[in-house]
Amino acid sequence: MELQTNVIKPYLDQVYPTVSHGSGVYLYDVNGKAYLDGCSGAVTANIGHGVREVIQAMCDQAHKVSFTYRSQFTSEPAEQLGEKIASWTPGDLNQVFFVNSGSEANETAMKVAIQYWQEKGCKGKNKILSRWMSYHGITLGALSLSGHISRRKRFASTLEPAPVLEPPYCYRCPFNLSYPDCRLHCAEQLETVIQRIGAENIAAFIAEPIIGAAGGAVTPPPQYYNRIKEICERNDILFIADEVMTGNGRTGERFGIDHWGVIPDIMTLGKGMSAGYTPMAAAIVSDRIIEVIREGSQSIMSGHTYSANPQSAAVSLAVMNYIDEQQLLNQVNERGLYLSRGMQQLKQKHSIIGDIRGKGLLYGIEFVKNSRVGKSPFPLSEKITDQLINQAMKNGLLVYNASGAVNGQAGDAIIIAPPFVISEREIDHLLSILDETIRQLT
Ligand code: PLP
Repeated sequence: MELQTNVIKPYLDQVYPTVSHGSGVYLYDVNGKAYLDGCSGAVTANIGHGVREVIQAMCDQAHKVSFTYRSQFTSEPAEQLGEKIASWTPGDLNQVFFVNSGSEANETAMKVAIQYWQEKGCKGKNKILSRWMSYHGITLGALSLSGHISRRKRFASTLEPAPVLEPPYCYRCPFNLSYPDCRLHCAEQLETVIQRIGAENIAAFIAEPIIGAAGGAVTPPPQYYNRIKEICERNDILFIADEVMTGNGRTGERFGIDHWGVIPDIMTLGKGMSAGYTPMAAAIVSDRIIEVIREGSQSIMSGHTYSANPQSAAVSLAVMNYIDEQQLLNQVNERGLYLSRGMQQLKQKHSIIGDIRGKGLLYGIEFVKNSRVGKSPFPLSEKITDQLINQAMKNGLLVYNASGAVNGQAGDAIIIAPPFVISEREIDHLLSILDETIRQLT
């Protein structure tokens, strides 16, 4: 039975299939049609659908208690989850503040950074720097940092500040340089920007280790974050890694930033943290920062009714345990290689595939008019992403939209990011639907 009532949908007049259930890497609608979840929904359902251990943890906790308020109680699952996260995070990133979405995690990170400098007596240090071609969330604070043109343009006059740095987008370098001759000019730009604005006015710099929704797994070159961290440290500026999409194993390391071996001062998590089973997200703060706040006003000026919800904490803990017990990080790397080889074959076959990039099981595909003759993108009116996403869905494959972030012509990209549990046979199925979809559109 198709139910289309008064629920406001992303596109008001579009009819969406009604989901019935999910199992492994497949979702099924009420008419029995199967969809291969090639992007884990919104790069979220990292361990696949219907995992028994997670459902069991959810039921067990529901039998005990589902809601307690954070300023009245803590709970065993929240405390255990905090410990588990601290055992995964690098360096002294040990203090966990729970929220419910990636946007809230980034709002919290912004506030903690500003509060840290206030407690240290540096009240002027309150600007947060960010890059174009980025996405940090849909709430006004997080959106103000986001260089995602199509999501921010309607609210531009309300959004303060705007991003100031160019992205590390090697396929179309904003400086027309190429790695390694560029000497990481995009990272060096941070130094120039700091000199212009004044380090005494800047609290933090925020970046997604691998750019997700705004660019399609755009992966910075080696040493990029090492240089960024050096510049931040020398100027007394905190580095916030937005790991909402790249965290919890998605890129083949526990966190995206681990590929560069850099330890951020604050890290934000969401999406894969609870793998979609319940809303759960967090800002992870270094011991050093919390010590300063503890000695100062003693409380972080943030939090939500559902923060540290015991039900969500139990689920998230079960998800992280499942990833460890099933050694899914190895699987992400192995299956990621298999998927990447298959996509390279598609690139040989289809001239509209311009670039394939990413790590682990987070891949971006950028489309161009004809990669055999150059990188010219389709004109905006002929962008292929939306058509491709719709056609793939008709063909039974879900892929994620990563376009719309870039001014002008570029930004025609999708993300392929299946659950970590995908088998080689299922990857073959994914690639064959993608192949057929591109063939139908060209
Ligand atoms: N940060 C990144 C890197 C994201 O990809 C997203 C969502 O796509 C967010 C933040 C916002 O997360 P949420 O949609 O859970 O608020």
